[in-house]
Amino acid sequence: MDQPDPSELLTRVIESMDSGEDRPQQRQMVEAVDRAFRTRTHLAVQGPTGVGKSVAYLLPAITSARSHADARTIVVTSSKALQDQLGERDLPFLADALDVPFRFAVLKGRSNYLCQAAVAETRVQLGRGEEQQTLDLGVGWDGDGSVPEVRAPDPMLRVELDRLLEWAGTTPTGELAELADPPSDAAWSALSVGPGECVGASRCGYAAECFSEQARERAGGADIVVVNAHLYAADVQAGGQLLPAHDHLVIDEAHEFEDAMVGALGVSMTGWRIRRLAQVHDRCVADAPTVAMAIGAAADAVDDALEQVFGKVSSDRGSGRLTGELPDVIADALTRADLAVDRAVTSLREVHKAAGNAPMSAAAHRFERAIRNCDGVSDDLHALRDDLHPGQVRWISEGRRGRFALNLTRIDIGPTLRATAWERPVAEDSRDAATDDGDGSGGPTVVMCSATLDPGTAGRLGLRAEYLAVDSPFDFRRHGLLYVPRLPRPNAEAWPDAVVDELVHVIERCGGRTLALFTSHRMLRRTVDAVRDRLPDADVLAQGDAPNRVLQERFLANEHTSLFATASFWTGISSPGTTCSAVVVDKIPFPVPTDPIVEARCDAVGADRAFMEVSVPAAGVQLAQGVGRLIRTATDRGVVAVLDPRLAEARYRARI
Ligand code: SF4
Repeated sequence: MDQPDPSELLTRVIESMDSGEDRPQQRQMVEAVDRAFRTRTHLAVQGPTGVGKSVAYLLPAITSARSHADARTIVVTSSKALQDQLGERDLPFLADALDVPFRFAVLKGRSNYLCQAAVAETRVQLGRGEEQQTLDLGVGWDGDGSVPEVRAPDPMLRVELDRLLEWAGTTPTGELAELADPPSDAAWSALSVGPGECVGASRCGYAAECFSEQARERAGGADIVVVNAHLYAADVQAGGQLLPAHDHLVIDEAHEFEDAMVGALGVSMTGWRIRRLAQVHDRCVADAPTVAMAIGAAADAVDDALEQVFGKVSSDRGSGRLTGELPDVIADALTRADLAVDRAVTSLREVHKAAGNAPMSAAAHRFERAIRNCDGVSDDLHALRDDLHPGQVRWISEGRRGRFALNLTRIDIGPTLRATAWERPVAEDSRDAATDDGDGSGGPTVVMCSATLDPGTAGRLGLRAEYLAVDSPFDFRRHGLLYVPRLPRPNAEAWPDAVVDELVHVIERCGGRTLALFTSHRMLRRTVDAVRDRLPDADVLAQGDAPNRVLQERFLANEHTSLFATASFWTGISSPGTTCSAVVVDKIPFPVPTDPIVEARCDAVGADRAFMEVSVPAAGVQLAQGVGRLIRTATDRGVVAVLDPRLAEARYRARI
């Protein structure tokens, strides 16, 4: 079949399933995406849970590839887990169910694959004589402070590296996700490269056997390439050098895309990140201790400066925005750090040249990685010291173990995306074949979809997109009940006790089966303690008592269990069936107004419009995500209780 019709393919897919169901909402979305691709019109689709969104955008992508030679679709997911789900489940299923040939590939960032240069270097190091077995490998790429430092001989790390090196000799993909037992950060970072560390295939002596290059090659030959938002952001920053040219771009879980881009397109600096360069340098140049000392002192100065200023600007949420000029004490510390890093680069270049290493030996790679590490820190130091441009926001955050970070990003990412992504040229042959009566931007057709998509999202991302809200396939009127009790408002003294009363009532009436979602850890802890006191025989789990995965498994395994949670459980749990019969939300989840990015967004639209244009839409999306945990299949039933009377009384309730 030369020009398959996606609606016809959907029929075949449904017929191939044991309990396939023809849902008009899914068919509507298939047709809308197909039309968008054919007319090159951007589209934003809100498709509630149960519509079958993945299949609804994948089928038009398949038909587009068949209809126009080389018409490629990039699918951007919000997480690697969703990426793997598409690559390991949905796409293989469609390939089996349809007699339409198409090629697909999953592509991740370089740090997800073994680097053959790093593998070769580690092999050399582990092959030293017994008395020289000092593993100076704890110099990983992860700049967020999560990589443990390893200075001394570490037998455990050595055992782990030996195991990984054995695997490196047999793995077909070299991909981290292949390992059932994930390695430690220290071990993996010794065998992989982080952003900016790769010397590039054209200069690398190991390029022919490089796993990430092979993955990119597979992506280059695929009709559908699945990437995650971080890799997409890296591609935007690299001016489109990382991903193959594409005709269509599908952004899944698009409600998270804006924040993901804002985060990924920013920079962050900690004293730890600077201090780590001393190790990186010493690994290459053993006899220049003053360089490492200068770096260490500069890192201490950055830590001290950030801590000092943080005390003056912080909110109670662990961050403080810096408007206007950078405080002198921070600017001076960054300058000092830049000089120390510069000195390290000079030292590395001198020794690298003097040693006369062949350009692509394992040792040369070590120097290249070290220099690139230093250059990356130096670039970010410069960016952080520059004057703020309109649309930029700079702030200090307090992380784990009291580490402070200086951060910079921009909230108006629309112009950046428009210039670097939306208007990127597509392949000429498929462009000629398409009907170009869209908005004339000249780049790929963008389709955004999510169960909860604010109509303003596309505009903020710099896109003019048609908006389509697909109905839910579930009969909420018959299967769901919304309960908003008459309680005091959340700022009233009596509200916390009223929340406890309501939760006790709901858990008793439902026999457990309750997912309670809180907007703060403090409120969660206070409430769970009180509920456990009142219901000593009830099995009430609370986030923080065990890893999230364990809590989720226990909640899903026993329908008499209740789970009290915050943050990630608003979106990250699916409990079809009778294990979840009540979703209780403590209050409308407005974004924290003192969050630097929220504050900057509010400033950008003006104080009089900030609440309705920033806070209310964000709260609506988050509330819908939380409430969406309840009805996951056509037979699910239950109650949503929102213990915040503003949902029934406030003037903005209709917007939410
Ligand atoms: S091109 Fe070379 S340095 Fe880059 S990831 Fe591949 S093997 Fe490593």
